[in-house]
Amino acid sequence: MLERDLQRLFGFQSFKEGQKEIIEAFMAGNDVFAMLPTGRGKSLCYQLPAFLAEGLTIVVSPLLSLMEDQVAQLKKAGRKQVVALNSFSSKQERQKLLQQVNDYKIVYLSPEMLQAQDVVNSLSKQQISYFVIDEAHCISYWGHDFRADYLRLREVKALLDHPPTLAITATADETVRADIKNQLQLREPVEILDRVNRENITLFVEKYETTEQKMIRLKQIVQQYELPGLVYAQTRAQAEWYCEQLQRDCPELSIGYYHGGMDSMDRMLVQEQFLSNQLDLICATNAFGMGVNKQDIRFIIHLQQPLDVASYLQEIGRAGRDGLPSLALVLLSPEDPFYASRLIQNRVEERGSLEALPHILAMPFTNKSELRIRLEQSYGEQGQMILFLLEKWGVIVDDKGTWKNQHETITKLKAYFE
Ligand code: ADP
Ligand code: MG
Repeated sequence: MLERDLQRLFGFQSFKEGQKEIIEAFMAGNDVFAMLPTGRGKSLCYQLPAFLAEGLTIVVSPLLSLMEDQVAQLKKAGRKQVVALNSFSSKQERQKLLQQVNDYKIVYLSPEMLQAQDVVNSLSKQQISYFVIDEAHCISYWGHDFRADYLRLREVKALLDHPPTLAITATADETVRADIKNQLQLREPVEILDRVNRENITLFVEKYETTEQKMIRLKQIVQQYELPGLVYAQTRAQAEWYCEQLQRDCPELSIGYYHGGMDSMDRMLVQEQFLSNQLDLICATNAFGMGVNKQDIRFIIHLQQPLDVASYLQEIGRAGRDGLPSLALVLLSPEDPFYASRLIQNRVEERGSLEALPHILAMPFTNKSELRIRLEQSYGEQGQMILFLLEKWGVIVDDKGTWKNQHETITKLKAYFE
């Protein structure tokens, strides 16, 4: 019985909605296309089959941080036969891992890694139980322009002898779904769609005349509403400023801030404190959230118009993962700088200054995907955009990453992002 395996392997009493259906369809050998809202437990839909299978499960994931987070979580839960293979692993590490790949149940990889000859060779010699594409919308969002390797997954799948394939995501409209199914050549896929619909989260938008009024309302919620909560500000400076204001006026609460400008130790510390309930509230930029798995966040407040619908859903999806009533509130005032037009610039600002680019590019790397990951780590999704521009402008002259006109390029990039 699947429930018994669920309990034995993961310690959960029952499946969440949609999980069992997906798992049964997948384990029956079908290709599956699945859509479940953020926080529902998509990972389990392939982790459970993976641990019950004889062979190896390959999971394609777009971001290094996501892979590492999942590997860490599984290891913490005692499931140690998992590993992430990324472009930062040295050649030796990679060779060693590939030789011992038999010892693992799940290997997480980026699509780029699946293009490396030695990786594919060694994987094709293994018994592959399942092929999984997590965050499958990336195939369609990023594949066509920035990460062509997403489009080559179908070839990889063929080389692996067409194992049952699961494409799973939280966000994909009809066009994107059709594109994914076509790109991966899913064969009569079983479709299990549960659209983003979190009934326990109530959405509100409130408008105020001034920032002061907005601040008053914010304090009121923070003091009266059930905690913990998460407040999203637009910039690093604002995240700190709101944090200070709230600390001053609500001394009974423990409040921290979080943004991409802090060093990684500080960020980790704040995140840990929040997870372990030592902090009631975090004022953060959109740098906060990826890989954060807290079940009982009671409210998410945006202090400005959200970036775009997809990010907004992602961000409010962090509330109420325990299914209890939660609040998502947008507080607006006319003084808010218009957000959307500054979107790209803000993202770059959030992740790191463009001044660092020469240093990032100066570090030796063996191929472009390594550079891509490095840019992605510094600039988030925007890193992919930067790489795209660098290539388009012919700035990177070869695969080893020799690049010309550094000064001019930085100026051009800045102009582009402003
Ligand atoms: P998603 O990828 O859909 O956003 P995750 O796979 O990260 O979600 O899982 C969200 C949380 O739900 C994790 O903490 C996970 O351990 C938990 N979870 C998954 N399945 C179950 C279950 N059947 N019962 C209880 N908790 C679960
Ligand atoms: Mg996930």
